Amino acid sequence: MSKKIVIIGAGPGGLATAMQLTEQGHDVHIYEKASEIGGRTALLKQDGFSFDLGPTALNMPNVLTALFADCNRNIQDYIKLVSLDPLYSLYIEDIIFSPSSNRDKTKNEIARFFPGEEEHYDRFMHDNAKKMIYLLPLWQEPFTSLWSIFRMRTLRALPSLTLGNHLIDELAKYFEDKRLRLAFSFETKFLGMSPWETPGAFSVIPFAEHYFGIFHIVGGINRLTQAMSEIVQENGGKIHLNQQVQQINTASKTITSITLENGELVEGDYFFLNADYAYTMSHLFSNTKAPVNLKKLNQKKIFLFWFCHVSRFRHNASSKCSYRSISE
Ligand SMILES: Cc1cc2nc3c(=O)[nH]c(=O)nc-3n(C[C@H](O)[C@H](O)[C@H](O)COP(=O)(O)OP(=O)(O)OC[C@H]3O[C@@H](n4cnc5c(N)ncnc54)[C@H](O)[C@@H]3O)c2cc1C
Repeated sequence: MSKKIVIIGAGPGGLATAMQLTEQGHDVHIYEKASEIGGRTALLKQDGFSFDLGPTALNMPNVLTALFADCNRNIQDYIKLVSLDPLYSLYIEDIIFSPSSNRDKTKNEIARFFPGEEEHYDRFMHDNAKKMIYLLPLWQEPFTSLWSIFRMRTLRALPSLTLGNHLIDELAKYFEDKRLRLAFSFETKFLGMSPWETPGAFSVIPFAEHYFGIFHIVGGINRLTQAMSEIVQENGGKIHLNQQVQQINTASKTITSITLENGELVEGDYFFLNADYAYTMSHLFSNTKAPVNLKKLNQKKIFLFWFCHVSRFRHNASSKCSYRSISE
């Protein structure tokens, strides 16, 4: 039976949720405070030029291909992907290092600057392929309570996750030259972190770049969010722009409605909160109604959203979102 779904935020997370739910025939409404869709993956147009405000390149396009296929769409009808080779050029001290998704090319590049470390690269790729096999299914599962951590799949993955190790130490197990360690850890900057404080499990990020490749979307990454919003609307979903959600209303630990800035009350059967987690918890719920301890939340420095990228609240259910501090 069709349900009324309310989603806060028309970033890629909100749009992906809306694509799937409209495809299932639900009556989906996204409320977006900005005048454009995209969130941190939005487009800026100025003086005849277009700029991506957020990410500029795409990794693991298979995830998106599957999302579009779930909605009976062929992603190639919407966006054109160009594989990048080299992946990028890194200026590290005195060298310009340009790895590729072609393993032989990368090994030649490593041999050129770091002779003898080619075999270390093979070992890095082999070990991280195993780590990825354990991690991928975890990324696709909700971690809604402490008990979720004790699922068999999670426990089996634990030894491969190199918990307790920082990324830079993890890389030191493989690469002798510190420039090579930097070449496999610069991605932490995208998270606003340093390799000295990022968990070792993040070595799957450089692995994924080297293994799956990096892709440019012709016209920019914003073409992807545009395509997603087209599908939502083709399926009958509504995207309400310039509609800031001011408050989330609850009764008995259940979200019942949202109040927009203009005072309008919007009711629904299900609510998906896809605005920034800390902001949502501390600004959109009244102090006494937030489903997390706001004092504790304020003490956290950084939150990992691996396990709850889309914070989901079900009608007649209390908060299901879990989070983990990596700074303590
Ligand atoms: C410079 C930069 C580079 C990046 N590079 C990468 C990268 O290389 N790889 C990568 O994976 N990610 C990258 N990111 C992060 C990526 O952009 C985000 O992970 C992604 O946009 C998150 O999508 P989302 O839908 O969860 O949230 P968002 O994109 O943040 O969307 C949330 C939406 O909610 C809306 N909203 C918030 N509050 C309200 C409210 N009260 N009422 C209504 N609407 C509201 C916001 O306006 C926004 O549109 C980068 C980001 C930046 C800024």
